[in-house]
Amino acid sequence: MTNNDQHYDVAIIGGGCVGGTLACALAQEGLRVAVIEAHEAQRMWPVGSVDIRVFAITRASERIFRAIDCWEAIERGGVSPFRDMRVWDASGPGAIHFDCAELGEPTLGYIIEQRVIQAALNARMEMLPTLTRLCPAELGAFGLADDAMHITLADGRQLRTRLLVGADGAASRVRGMADIAVEVRDYQQEAVVAVVTTEQSHQETAWQRFLPTGPLAFLPLRDGRSSIVWSTTPQQAAELCALDAPEFLERLTAAFDQRLGRVTAVEERARFPLRRLHAKHYIAERLALVGDAAHVIHPLAGQGVNLGLLDAATLAEVVLDTQAVGRDYGLYANLRRYERWRHGDNRIMQRAMDGFKELFGASAPPLRLLRNTGLGMVDRMGPLKQLLSRHAMGLAGDLPRLARPNA
Ligand SMILES: Cc1cc2nc3c(=O)[nH]c(=O)nc-3n(C[C@H](O)[C@H](O)[C@H](O)COP(=O)(O)OP(=O)(O)OC[C@H]3O[C@@H](n4cnc5c(N)ncnc54)[C@H](O)[C@@H]3O)c2cc1C
Repeated sequence: MTNNDQHYDVAIIGGGCVGGTLACALAQEGLRVAVIEAHEAQRMWPVGSVDIRVFAITRASERIFRAIDCWEAIERGGVSPFRDMRVWDASGPGAIHFDCAELGEPTLGYIIEQRVIQAALNARMEMLPTLTRLCPAELGAFGLADDAMHITLADGRQLRTRLLVGADGAASRVRGMADIAVEVRDYQQEAVVAVVTTEQSHQETAWQRFLPTGPLAFLPLRDGRSSIVWSTTPQQAAELCALDAPEFLERLTAAFDQRLGRVTAVEERARFPLRRLHAKHYIAERLALVGDAAHVIHPLAGQGVNLGLLDAATLAEVVLDTQAVGRDYGLYANLRRYERWRHGDNRIMQRAMDGFKELFGASAPPLRLLRNTGLGMVDRMGPLKQLLSRHAMGLAGDLPRLARPNA
């Protein structure tokens, strides 16, 4: 590599779903992009197996994947559309039902395995001639000098770039090394995730029952099974993971109120601690944060990666627009547009999830009454329900170009 080869327009630390999407969005417009990723992703897996990590992907995220030419590969890898969503309260009659037909949309969204998205992104990255993927490679250090960000990798390799992006997840080293403060709230909850088989069909519906200890979601998979996300206290999560399979199935069937009959089989179980995290700033001179490096949200509405994809699409737009008018997109003043656009939107979504979590976790009778009557009222109020669902699908609000129709 010559000295010149080591200079990139944008260098992205972390080639996960968010970093990979940003890299494709920039490189397909001809920018020289480096992606530094610590771990090689799975390329192949046994037929019939399902990744324990799945995402509920919004229609806005589908548009972003289409715009970066990844959607067809994701579809080939397997997507499960969900057309209905049913949410109900375990301690009362309150319930709400969202139906894609009411919204004039073919689906509400898709359940997709993380490894399917990652494999499609990696394949697309390999096709883009101005994109260099360094993997396995880890960030060592970085510092500003001579109008560039200088990066040293853990193995000693050196790069220069006009913009360094931290897409390195919730424990972001980029964020830490840039001394960007975070607001953290530990929910004192863990999510138990697993793939399960139920007696009855999932009916292409995403189901969520609010229990006093937290929400329990059943997400429909294309092979007829469901992926569960059971948010609960850390003690109960540990207990649930330690139970033998028959006992776990019995507890799960009861917790889900037999809505799909008995739960008859479970694969491997895993636990994830839940917390909210928000970086006070998303930018610094020649530096930006995207995805979980910038914000971590409760998984109850399945929005985390979707917000990160909107960050990626927005930052790509700001970089390309700034470059188009001959300005330096790495400058703090020019990155401000990205921060203004995304910081407020992500905060609103985080607060909304906190509000839901608090309301549904409350056992005081007035709050129980409020949520049960509230759910019923929203269910009957067409326009408000439409607004809520369009937001959850990522079809409302100030969307970046890549997430708009016909991007
Ligand atoms: C139980 C659970 C369920 C969830 N369900 C949903 C859902 O249904 N829908 C949804 O939208 N979201 C969901 N989320 C949230 C979602 O998992 C995250 O928002 C998403 O994975 C964040 O993607 P990312 O690319 O920002 O970060 P990550 O996925 O964390 O990717 C970061 C990448 O950076 C790499 N990296 C890290 N440090 C370095 C370094 N120093 N050098 C080089 N590389 C590095 C890592 O190897 C990794 O590949 C869920 C989360 C949980 C816990």
